[in-house]
Amino acid sequence: MGWNRSFVLSFQSAGDRWFLERSPDSRRGGGFWTWGISLMLFFLLLPIPALGKLRILATTSDLASIAQMVGGDHVQVLAIAKGRQDPHFIDAKPSIMLEAHRAVLFIRVGLSLEIAWEPAVLEGARNGKIQPGNPGHLDASEGVRALEIPGVDLDRSMGDVHPYGNPHIWLDPWNGRIIARNIAVRLSEIDPEHSGDYRGHLATFLKKLDGKMFGVSLVKELGGEELWRHELAGDLADWLQAREKRLDPGSWAGRMATHRGQEILTFHKSFPYFAHRFGLVVATELEAKPGIPPSPVQLMKVIRLMRQRKVRVLLMEPFYDRKPADLVARKTGALVVQVANSTGGQEGVDDYLSLIDNLVQRVADALDGKES
Ligand SMILES: [Zn+2]
Repeated sequence: MGWNRSFVLSFQSAGDRWFLERSPDSRRGGGFWTWGISLMLFFLLLPIPALGKLRILATTSDLASIAQMVGGDHVQVLAIAKGRQDPHFIDAKPSIMLEAHRAVLFIRVGLSLEIAWEPAVLEGARNGKIQPGNPGHLDASEGVRALEIPGVDLDRSMGDVHPYGNPHIWLDPWNGRIIARNIAVRLSEIDPEHSGDYRGHLATFLKKLDGKMFGVSLVKELGGEELWRHELAGDLADWLQAREKRLDPGSWAGRMATHRGQEILTFHKSFPYFAHRFGLVVATELEAKPGIPPSPVQLMKVIRLMRQRKVRVLLMEPFYDRKPADLVARKTGALVVQVANSTGGQEGVDDYLSLIDNLVQRVADALDGKES
């Protein structure tokens, strides 16, 4: 996902090549017309500039995807961390600072996911609008119930531990709903003229998400909000049974229903929100400390634990080193499932909804013993 193409082109042109560097022809003195006509053609061929669109810079591709769906035609969205990048470690390059300079809304996940690089981006942006505390700075995790809030004082020797809880909130579709709502509310504040559209886009997004979560016809019949209310209260299965209804077996909740209580191993602490939503148990992580590659001692510990508890599935993001995971798999017979944890992180994972689709599908297949 990128800025509108015209913006990218005009940015490149202003930045370097087109205005500063003349063609070899023009240096010979006879190239004025070639140069001038090329330039004219260049502007004529540009798509109509996206005038009046709000520029949004999101720290991750998932926030960008949701912001695009909620903002629709009124916004241009760019993600800093692409789906195949580890969002904890991003190089705050000048090109990112320039995007931040032009943005009217900066959206972060928060819970200190971006702590290693957000300050540099914001400082380099020289843009007061998007500094924390201003309407142009949005913490997408506002209102999310954080998991794994550490009860002890932290220091760096404990690895990449987050003081406000685990920041990988977006893999629970309920949190995806909260994020979308936060974005819609903030867009309406910044751009009240289009608040009706933002409300409408939000409703469409929630309806789509709920349909995928529970099944379209069930949502039509019982209402998404009501289904979620019971899902959050933990009595959805009983409540549906009392009404002689059932989850669509192809829906996210339906697909995962038979796997409740099953244990998985994950490489990094990226999946607790997903596991929590669908009733899986994360037995342990391959990393002894978040952000620090597993040592041989840790690998032996994990292998022993997996054998004892008969854990059959190891989940990992595509950007981690597969070797330690393969070693564990060889020793335990478990399946290694490489799965995108962000939009764009794998083929076919083009937006937030297909991200969850892909994750549910691959995890359910692996728990069924099928390789995907
Ligand atoms: Zn993490």
